[in-house]
Amino acid sequence: MTKYVYDFAEGHKDLKDLLGGKGANLAEMVRLGLPVPPGFTITTEACREYLTAGEPPAELSAQVDTHLAALEQTMGRTLGQPDDPLLVSVRSGAKFSMPGMMETVLNVGLTDASVGGLAAVSGNERFAWDSYRRLIQMFGKTVCDVPGEAFEHALDQVKGGRADVELSADELRELVGTFKQIFAEHTGRDFPQDPREQMDLAVRAVFDSWHAPRAVVYRRQERIPADLGTAVNIVAMVFGNLGPDSGTGVAFTRDPATGATGVYGDYLANAQGEDVVAGIRNTVPLQDLERLDKVSFDQLTDIMHTLEQHYRDLCDIEFTIERGKLWMLQTRVGKRTAAAAFTIASQLVDEGLIDLDEALRRQSGARLAQLMFPTFDAAATGEPIAKGVAASPGAAVGQVVFDSARAVELAAQGKKVILVRRETNPDDLPGMIAAQGILTSKGGKTSHAAVVARGMGKTCVCGADALTVDTAAGEFTVHGTTVREGDLISVDGTSGAVYLGEVPVQPSPVVRYFDGELAPDVDPLVSAVHRLLTHADQRRRLAVRANADTGDDAARGRRFGAQGIGLCRTEHMFLGERRALVERLILAEGEREQEEALAALLPLQRDDFVEIFQAMDGLPVTIRLIDPPLHEFLPPLEELAVAVATAEHPDPHAEKLLAAVRRMHEQNPMLGLRGVRLGLVIPGLFGMQVRAIAQAAVKVRAEGGDPRPEIMVPLVGAVQELEAVRVDAERILKEEELAGVPIGTMIEVPRAALTADQIAEAADFFSFGTNDLTQMGWGFSRDDVEGSFFSRYLELGVFGVSPFETIDRDGVGRLVRIAVAEGRQARPDLKIGVCGEHGGDPDSVRFFHEVGLDYVSCSPFRVPVARLEAGRAAL
Ligand code: PEP
Ligand code: MG
Repeated sequence: MTKYVYDFAEGHKDLKDLLGGKGANLAEMVRLGLPVPPGFTITTEACREYLTAGEPPAELSAQVDTHLAALEQTMGRTLGQPDDPLLVSVRSGAKFSMPGMMETVLNVGLTDASVGGLAAVSGNERFAWDSYRRLIQMFGKTVCDVPGEAFEHALDQVKGGRADVELSADELRELVGTFKQIFAEHTGRDFPQDPREQMDLAVRAVFDSWHAPRAVVYRRQERIPADLGTAVNIVAMVFGNLGPDSGTGVAFTRDPATGATGVYGDYLANAQGEDVVAGIRNTVPLQDLERLDKVSFDQLTDIMHTLEQHYRDLCDIEFTIERGKLWMLQTRVGKRTAAAAFTIASQLVDEGLIDLDEALRRQSGARLAQLMFPTFDAAATGEPIAKGVAASPGAAVGQVVFDSARAVELAAQGKKVILVRRETNPDDLPGMIAAQGILTSKGGKTSHAAVVARGMGKTCVCGADALTVDTAAGEFTVHGTTVREGDLISVDGTSGAVYLGEVPVQPSPVVRYFDGELAPDVDPLVSAVHRLLTHADQRRRLAVRANADTGDDAARGRRFGAQGIGLCRTEHMFLGERRALVERLILAEGEREQEEALAALLPLQRDDFVEIFQAMDGLPVTIRLIDPPLHEFLPPLEELAVAVATAEHPDPHAEKLLAAVRRMHEQNPMLGLRGVRLGLVIPGLFGMQVRAIAQAAVKVRAEGGDPRPEIMVPLVGAVQELEAVRVDAERILKEEELAGVPIGTMIEVPRAALTADQIAEAADFFSFGTNDLTQMGWGFSRDDVEGSFFSRYLELGVFGVSPFETIDRDGVGRLVRIAVAEGRQARPDLKIGVCGEHGGDPDSVRFFHEVGLDYVSCSPFRVPVARLEAGRAAL
């Protein structure tokens, strides 16, 4: 026979699946000998069967009989006994805490017959009638769907502006009569006078509340499985509202906001639990209880100590004091902020409760990332003018600008700017880099703005659709307010709120520590982060590199702990003033002109690399040869066509450009003439880059440095492509007298992954370009799909999270596994890393550890996150 009911004395904390979090922890407290009111738990299994069948399992009623009888025996009175009623609470409690999402009914068992008995034994008539009206109200609302306002309205009328506690016994008795009428009117039946019927109906209501809309929404958001069901706890009532020597409170064993040691909580004298939660009266700090009731306070602090020692973690508790006797109503390992999570774990190591491995296990890269963003001073924010998607956390303040070039220009003058666009595209990159934050009126969490901003660790709110952005006029309007270029706004990437004017921000001390501005021992949070990251570094097998294209980025990556550069994209080096040189290259007629154009680019490229080698002295620097199609460096077709058509005098240069753009136009540039294909069509281009790398390395070495370049070829799909580039590159390296430069390839085309054994013959290393591998694996272009159907796919559960954010283990991940296995089989010493954005995503880092990569590479800001996750993955 299935056991559906457990006495508290039968359970323990590891039975959360069956007893729910609350039931399992109540049982654990009983085992620890703590004062818990007697009771029992109906299992989640009973709930699941009820939800499937629409009826409770047949054996449930008899099992409840047995446990109720035992409870009555312990308490020395029966449920609803007229002269001295046993009352119970009926409380929900799922495996994962879902605060306030499901139902609870208190004072179950009280009836017309027993309310007098309760008045007599408590010596408090007022209390008895107040308890009864609470029962009818709560039961009516949660069990029978009577609208809550009906009761509240009647209560307000009796109160006439007074506080709850000022109502007399007679008034409350009268109110009970009114409440019973309301109940009957809305339900078509009288308020049940059979205590057991009350209890059974309340149990069903708790089961049903699993499917309450707010619970469904909460589960979806928190990714709690929808089929777990809730347990139901039946607990003997204890009363905090029996007079000034009674009360109720909630407490944490440490401060859940900062992690500071010392108990922390709120207490409310002469009140029941829901009064604290509802905020009806003002609570006092828990410390005041010491003055009010020293015996209970001391006992409570002892219990909190016991719980911390036992759970080896911060606990939160709910308690009630009934006439000087302390009762524990709930405990669990408490939720906490990211800062508290680090600080507390480090404290617990000092206290000998956990070791460093366990402390590291309890962290997450996502939490560390939260600690790295600046925040707004919560006390100083007013009403937001708009809300959008909280796409990339942080707090940014600056003057509004509407285009990328203007953002760069103002930033160069030392101004702080917020780039506001309808949506962004790769051309906005310089402006995004220059801006403090990015605000868009279109697009969601996976839009270009969101993805790029997250990668850069830059604040971003996107899809703020109340904004009408008029780029041409240089203004946006929102609810009748017009904001122009130069106006100050504040953007909160953690909440999605946008404010007019300047809200004060606080820089993250954790980032200042990474940047070397703060010593590790400056405060408890920074030293906890330092300690746990140091431990992660000792544990991890994966190396962590940075994606960096400039000396500054490389230097930051290094300060943040990068062990080299895993991806130096060279296309950014062809923008700005150098665009003219690229135009020259594209328009070149004949080999000589082409060579001249390339020769002009060479010294500029060399200087780029010198700077990066210096910043990463002694560490590997993987330089990727140019990847995007060349026409991306030319002005857009429409712009050129208009310029040519409207020019007063013929402009041969513009006409030539227009012809080139027309000639080079591609339907699907992502799948067109780019990467290695470009290198093979214009061999001088890759050749120039290889020469620049070699010359830069020779120069830095001559100056006493230790440059470690690695040359990486993008978009290879067949070994022959790589071989052709390799032959040329080796010749040039030889000419420049630079030996020992590894030449490898990106694996970002599915065919490359599937022929990895062949490609490994010509590659010294592989680096997975999981951005392109995801695009080509799924067959959709990121720029096109993120803003169009991704939200629908997320809704439908085609994927739980964007595959551009977290690696799709089953599909793209399988390509990675195949390439690792077959590449290594062909070449056991093959070095393998990843440099797509997934290299800095906590879940993906775990995957890359599992499949045996040597390193991950990610944006400098993500380096600490990757270090932490790589350490956790290795535990
Ligand atoms: C990739 O495809 O994963 C990659 C790193 O290259 P890019 O994002 O520059 O295409
Ligand atoms: Mg790529």
